[in-house]
Amino acid sequence: MAVLDILDTLAPIREKVEARERLDFEDGLALMETDDLLALGELADLARRVRGGGDEVYFVQNLYLNQTNVCRVKCKFCAFAKTQKQEDSYTIGADELVEDAVAQYELANYTEIHCVNGENPHVDLEFYADVLRKLKAALPDVHLKFYTASEIHHMSKLEGCTHDEVLRVLKDAGLGSLPGGGAEIFAPRVRQLIAPGKEPAEEWFHIHDTAHKMGIPTHCTLLYGHVETYEERVDHMLRLRAQQDATGGFLAFIPLAFHPENTVFERRGFKFTTGADDLKMAAVSRLVLDNIPNIKAYWIMMGMPMAQLALHFGSNDVQGTVVREKIFQAAGATSGTEQKIPELVRFIKDAGRIPVQRDTLYNELHRW
Ligand code: SF4
Repeated sequence: MAVLDILDTLAPIREKVEARERLDFEDGLALMETDDLLALGELADLARRVRGGGDEVYFVQNLYLNQTNVCRVKCKFCAFAKTQKQEDSYTIGADELVEDAVAQYELANYTEIHCVNGENPHVDLEFYADVLRKLKAALPDVHLKFYTASEIHHMSKLEGCTHDEVLRVLKDAGLGSLPGGGAEIFAPRVRQLIAPGKEPAEEWFHIHDTAHKMGIPTHCTLLYGHVETYEERVDHMLRLRAQQDATGGFLAFIPLAFHPENTVFERRGFKFTTGADDLKMAAVSRLVLDNIPNIKAYWIMMGMPMAQLALHFGSNDVQGTVVREKIFQAAGATSGTEQKIPELVRFIKDAGRIPVQRDTLYNELHRW
């Protein structure tokens, strides 16, 4: 009987996937609610292949930088932010940051810098533009993936100008793309509970919409495993899908598992997400987000063995070498902060896939 129930739930969705029909809210919810994890993974892998995906699994060689951990917002899920007065707060000027990035480049020869920060009220737009300009001058071939939509919104408030104006200044200074952070969960109920100081979802979308229309590609995320419902996860994905229909500028979707350590939620007894939930998110996002080509299994958050499994649940990208990640480490991630290329290649090959090193824009650089 249980098997029949499972077949009844997923069979109509499989038919839609095979016919390349779009899944709706109810389908998304049925996928979230299924307990048949293996069937879900198989369906997500089918969707990936039906839409033209091959055996390639991508990664990028990247350096993570944070200019400042000083933040005015106080999101309840965050273990990274500090106030200016706290002993371990920091704000690094452009010259020091560039010197460090150049030294790391000589060691690791990365192709991308990924940089996100606290929303520091003690700096101005020039603080951000200056570092882009100096990095571009020092490392002209490196792609600068800098500043979440929340940070762009913060800069527009600091400077009293529009999102469009901030993005133009940053683009002229060398900005290549935006990371996907700040999305959290778009539902106002959840935002109010976990990040009451953060701008509403509409601002996040306005910034990505503006960036896409300006020719700046971006990434998108969903933070799961806290107080959100399955309905709110699916709603979040459908909003991203609608934006992608309109502007097509999302390069990849990254489901982010919530890490409660060192946050308010740890004191309230929240635990890390389970492997089953991580795999479910990979699969459902692949199935629902039919117009976003790349779904990442972010190994630094889920650990490399689970990321490897996610490659059979719809994911096709393991992010990168990630030199010096600080945000998930502050919240208790135990996966280390760096994965050497031979290790990434080994994991991908062992999953039966073809490792491909890419640049930020998914141009192939090398395959094994
Ligand atoms: S998540 Fe970002 S905006 Fe929120 S408190 Fe942390 S650093 Fe600040």
